[in-house]
Amino acid sequence: MADYNAPLKDMKLTLNHVARMTELAEKPGFEDASADMVDAILEEAARVARDVVAPTNWEGDQQGVQLKDGTVVCPESFKDAYQQYAEGGWGSLQFDPEYGGQGLPFLLSIPVMEMWHSANMAWGLCPMLSQGAVECLDLNGSDELKAKYLPKLVSGEWTGTMNLTESNAGSDLSVVRAKAEPEGDHYRISGEKIFITWGDHEMAENIIHLVLARLPDAPAGVRGISLFLVPKFLVNDDGSLGERNTAGPLSLEHKMGIHASATCVMGFDNAIGYLVGEPNRGLACMFTMMNNARLSVGLQGVSISERAYQQALQYAFERIQGPAVGAREAGPIIRHADVRRMLMTMKTLTEAGRAIAYDACGSLDFAAKAESDEEKAREQARAALLTPIVKGWCTEVAQEVTSLGVQIHGGMGFIEETGAAQHYRDARILPIYEGTNGIQALDLVGRKTLMDKGEALAALISEMRASLTSCDASLMAQAKQVEEAVAGLETARELLLKGAEGDALLPGAIAYNFMMLAGYVCGGWQLLRQATAAVRLASEGDDDPYLKAKQESARFYMAQVLPRWKGFAEMLNDGSQTIMALPEEQFASAWQ
Ligand SMILES: Cc1cc2nc3c(=O)[nH]c(=O)nc-3n(C[C@H](O)[C@H](O)[C@H](O)COP(=O)(O)OP(=O)(O)OC[C@H]3O[C@@H](n4cnc5c(N)ncnc54)[C@H](O)[C@@H]3O)c2cc1C
Repeated sequence: MADYNAPLKDMKLTLNHVARMTELAEKPGFEDASADMVDAILEEAARVARDVVAPTNWEGDQQGVQLKDGTVVCPESFKDAYQQYAEGGWGSLQFDPEYGGQGLPFLLSIPVMEMWHSANMAWGLCPMLSQGAVECLDLNGSDELKAKYLPKLVSGEWTGTMNLTESNAGSDLSVVRAKAEPEGDHYRISGEKIFITWGDHEMAENIIHLVLARLPDAPAGVRGISLFLVPKFLVNDDGSLGERNTAGPLSLEHKMGIHASATCVMGFDNAIGYLVGEPNRGLACMFTMMNNARLSVGLQGVSISERAYQQALQYAFERIQGPAVGAREAGPIIRHADVRRMLMTMKTLTEAGRAIAYDACGSLDFAAKAESDEEKAREQARAALLTPIVKGWCTEVAQEVTSLGVQIHGGMGFIEETGAAQHYRDARILPIYEGTNGIQALDLVGRKTLMDKGEALAALISEMRASLTSCDASLMAQAKQVEEAVAGLETARELLLKGAEGDALLPGAIAYNFMMLAGYVCGGWQLLRQATAAVRLASEGDDDPYLKAKQESARFYMAQVLPRWKGFAEMLNDGSQTIMALPEEQFASAWQ
C-alpha cells in the first residue's frame, strides 16, 4: 500500500497562479492569508493527512461500519483521526470568526479538503458534509439558530448531515414526502430518508441533521418543501446536551466502495426540528449546501485521482518486468512507453481537474469580497458555470484515472491487497451522488447556459482567449492547440443556443457531450496557464525540476488528451436525432 504525500508544489502553483490566491490575500479581511501562513497551513495539513488520516484508509475499507444498538460503530482509528482534525481547528479555516471560525479564504480550505479526501475519502465525507451544513445555516438560519448551533459545528465538536433523498425522491426532489407539523416554537418531523452519509456515528458528541420536509398546508412540488434542523441530541438553552431526539439510523447500506462511510436509512419519528429559512423555501436554502457539496464532490474526484496516481507511480518504479527498448536487462515498468502513457494521462487529468476546481472556488471568494455589484455578479456567474464542470468532468475522469491505476498494477491491480482496487471502487460513487452527472450536464446546458443566453460561457471563452496572449514562445504550439479547442467550445455554445430554439429535446440529448467538451477545453486552458507560470518562474531563476515537469504535463495533455474535445464536439452535431430515435416500446421489444 503506497503512502500519501500531498502534492504541495502543485497545490501552491495552482493556488497562486491559477486561482489568484495572492490577489485574494490583499482583500480586506484576508490579511492573515499571507504566503507564509498559507505555506504553514498546507504543510501542517499535509502532515496530518499523511500521518494521521491516510493510515486509516485501508483499515476502514476492510472493517467498514456496523449498526449496533441503534448506533453506528466505525473503526477506532477514525475517532482518533477525527479528534485530531477537530482539535487542530481544520474545520474552521474559512468560517466567520463570530462563530469561532478563522476567517480565512474559502479557497484555502480547498487544498486542505483535497488532502483529507486523498487520505481517506470515506472519512473525509464527514467533515465535508459538516462544512456544507455550516454554510447552509450561516446563510439561511435565524440569529438564534446560528448562535446555538454554529459554534460547535464550526469547531468540529458536532457534525452535520444533509437529508434530502427518499426512496421515491432522488434526482426529483419535488416529490419529497417527509412531514413537518408545527408545535409551539418547533416542529415535529416524521418520515424516512435514504442514503444519508454519516447519518450516525460516535466520532462527535452531537449530529445536526438538515432535513427537507413538507408543512401541512404546503403546495405540491418544489415550492412546498421546507428545511429543518433536527439535532440527534436536543440542545438546552445553555448549550448543554439534552435528551436524545427521535431521529436515528434504521439500517446501513452495503456498498461497492467507501465502505467506512456510514450510509444510513434514517427514521424521523415525530422528531423535534426547527425551521431554517422561510417556509416552503427549503430547496433554495438547501441549494447553498448542494452547490458547496457539488464543488467538494468534484474535488473528491481530484483527490482520489491523486491518490491512485501516487500509488501507480510507486508501483511503476518497483515492478520489474522485461527490458525496455534498447536495454538488455529487465527493469522497472516505468521504462515502457505504454506505462508512461498511462501515468501521464493520470497525472495530467488530475492536475487539470485540480486547477479547474481551485479556480472555481476562488471565484466564490472574489464574489464575497467584490467591490462592485458588477464584479460580484461576474464572479458568481463564473463559479456557477464552472460548478457542474468541476462536479461532472472531474468525477468522470476520476473513473478513468483510478481504472488506469488498476491497469498499471497488472494482475495485482485486481487483487484487493494492493489497494489500487479500493480507489477504483471508492471513485465509482462520485458521478452518482450530489446530483448525478446527467443532472450536472443538464444544469450546465440549461440553468448555466441557456438561461443567461450563453453570457457566462462567452465571458469564460474570452478569458481563455486573453490568457493565450501571455504565453511564452516555447509554448506556442500548445497555445495553438488550446486556441483551436476554445473555438470548438464557442461553436458548441452557438449550436446549443440556436438548436434549443427549434428542438426542445436537443439540450438534454447533447448535455453530457457538451459538459465533457467543456471540461477537456477548460483542462487544456488551465494547464497552459500553469505551464506559462512555470516558464516564467524558471526564467526568474527557480530551478525546481517540478517546473519542467509542469511544462511537460501541458505538452502531454495537449498532444494526448485535449484532442478528445473533437470527438465530443462531433457528437453534438447529431443533436437529438439518433439518441431519441428508438421508440420506448422498441427498447422493450429487445428481450421479448
Ligand atoms: C453512497 C451514497 C451516499 C449518498 N449520500 C447522500 C446524502 O448524504 N444525503 C442525501 O440526501 N442523499 C444522498 N445520496 C443520494 C444521492 O444524492 C442520489 O442517489 C442521487 O442524487 C441520485 O438519485 P437516485 O439514486 O434516486 O437516482 P435516480 O434519480 O433514480 O436516477 C437514476 C438515473 O436516471 C437519471 N435521471 C433521473 N432523472 C433524470 C432527468 N431528469 N434527466 C436525465 N436523467 C435523469 C440519473 O442521471 C441516473 O442515471 C447518496 C447516495 C449514495 C449512493
